[in-house]
Amino acid sequence: MAKKEFKAESKRLLDMMINSIYTHKEIFLREIISNASDAMDKLSYQSLTDDQVGLNRDDFKIQITVNQLARTITVSDNGIGMTEDELEKNLGTIAQSGSFQFKKDMAAAETPDGDVDIIGQFGVGFYSAFMVADQITVLTRAYGSDTGYMWVSNGADGYEITPISKPTVGTDVIMHIKPDTEEEKYDEYLEQYRIQELVKKYSDYIHYPIEMMMNKSRQKPRPEDAGDDYKTEWEDYQELETLNSMTPIWQRSKDDVTQEEYDSFYQDKFNDYAKPLTTLRVTTEGNISYTALLFIPGNAPYDFYTREFEKGLQLYSSGVLIMDKCADLLPEHFRFVKGIVDTPDVSLNISREMLQHTRSLKVIARNLEKKIKAELMKMQKDNREDYEKFWKAFGAQIKFGVYADYGKNKTLLQDLVLFNSSENEKGTTLREYVERMKEEQPFIYYAVGDEASQLGKLPQAERILDAGYEILYLTEDVDEFTVQALQEYDGKKLKSINDEDALPETEEEKKAAEEKAESAKDVMSFLKTTLGDKIKEARISKILKSHAVCMTSDGPITIEMEKSLKSHGQDMMGFQAERVLELNGDAPVFAALKNAITENPEKAAKYAELLYAQALLIAGLPLEDPAGYTDLVCELMV
Ligand code: ADP
Repeated sequence: MAKKEFKAESKRLLDMMINSIYTHKEIFLREIISNASDAMDKLSYQSLTDDQVGLNRDDFKIQITVNQLARTITVSDNGIGMTEDELEKNLGTIAQSGSFQFKKDMAAAETPDGDVDIIGQFGVGFYSAFMVADQITVLTRAYGSDTGYMWVSNGADGYEITPISKPTVGTDVIMHIKPDTEEEKYDEYLEQYRIQELVKKYSDYIHYPIEMMMNKSRQKPRPEDAGDDYKTEWEDYQELETLNSMTPIWQRSKDDVTQEEYDSFYQDKFNDYAKPLTTLRVTTEGNISYTALLFIPGNAPYDFYTREFEKGLQLYSSGVLIMDKCADLLPEHFRFVKGIVDTPDVSLNISREMLQHTRSLKVIARNLEKKIKAELMKMQKDNREDYEKFWKAFGAQIKFGVYADYGKNKTLLQDLVLFNSSENEKGTTLREYVERMKEEQPFIYYAVGDEASQLGKLPQAERILDAGYEILYLTEDVDEFTVQALQEYDGKKLKSINDEDALPETEEEKKAAEEKAESAKDVMSFLKTTLGDKIKEARISKILKSHAVCMTSDGPITIEMEKSLKSHGQDMMGFQAERVLELNGDAPVFAALKNAITENPEKAAKYAELLYAQALLIAGLPLEDPAGYTDLVCELMV
């Protein structure tokens, strides 16, 4: 029989498979198994209306046979099989297998380094077997037909179809595995443990048994008359094993699954030593139906805050794994969520409705985002201890989410945020803060620094705390950006304790302050002249109560931001806060300074240096010259 050429577009895909540099070659088995499963679905469906089929649902199975000598893996099914015509159409032409669209989208899907991303994500069906096999033989007999057919191809130069006699209906796909080369290893696919592993990984939930004859070894029973010198003997034997567990945990009825089972499923599947904090199961039916089983871990993976971390949920289509980490299902701010989504609305065959899946994925992702938020809110309310644990692990991600994308998600995320505060060192929500606010309190206050325990002692915190107002203590780099993105909560503005107008002033107070500033003008210009570029300005403070000095800033970059940018090595850009030295006009030190300016300007200049250094220390900024500073203190003491 003459060899037939593959249709042009099939040839292209085929070439791609044969020469694939794709790293997930192992998915071929999933594709072949899933075809077998489809074929059995079809015959099982037929049997509903046709009693000639003679098979019950329980009779359907997939068998895998490995022959290491012949280097073959055979996947056999007792499904619907193919007629000669169907063989020709289905395996000779991609257009028929539905992968036609794939070819069209191929150009778009190719990544810069030439790898075709889409392969592992959606599956390209039968041809993927050519990634590991140099020859494929298909023996098949269609239901209702007396003859069987053999289809053989070694890829590039086409295929041949010959009639054969085949006693049973169904299909055997025999893959002759390529030899190992320097760069590529194929032998492993002939190892039973590897096959077992691949079935577990990709096809565990295929709802037909996938059986394989396993080679095993066991201890021979000890003979009755064995003496003391008896040595244990071993024997090899074979046993048929079902490799897949068939029912995915998320497809079992909710009441049937214990939390323990969920926990171990999670730990197994997502390699966590700890149990998840929460398990969330979502089932929806309607326009787009799907089941999701989601977990919120209790601790961050070691690489969570690095670029290496890949977010995503496992995507299944009716129990068949399509994609291991489908990133589109999770928004960045919930990237810590683990789990699976199973939806019949995303077909294993990318070609069919490629565009449509993307749309259904989006809908699912949007629903899940809402569910995750609701679940976290519930945890926050009902199980604060767990929530605090969650917050410790992933809070930074949420806070980052508040300000990322120009604050697009801040309304969604703001209620999840916890901040340390003067009232609650384990973290308060903004809602709780607002509920505690005094009636006349105009703002939500915050202070920024390294240690929460020190923030309450800041000179500028005194007057706020004395007024009986709570202060949020922002101690993480991301906090200040988060607060800037938030701007306000529930109609209350967030206000830095460094802001002059953090507390309302009466007209009289305003006037008095202006007068004070006016009379201190000379002192301030002395300070500016003495300190030069170290500060932008010196001013009589409105934010100090009993303390003498502090450092604040003008302009968009605060001192804390400068510190955080520096610690990330981003100060190259010249991000510098414009420093403002604030002095308490009522402090005795101020009087001493004023005095010295007229009596002993040289000493006054030393005072200026001293005050500046103290303000740096309080702000947690490094002294430019620590030895000079201590010398100065000693000198003035003597
Ligand atoms: P897809 O499964 O995505 O349609 P494939 O390239 O995997 O694409 O398969 C092409 C077609 O070949 C299938 O649609 C099916 O009709 C047929 N086919 C493949 N494997 C089998 C099988 N084991 N039994 C019956 N038909 C099969």
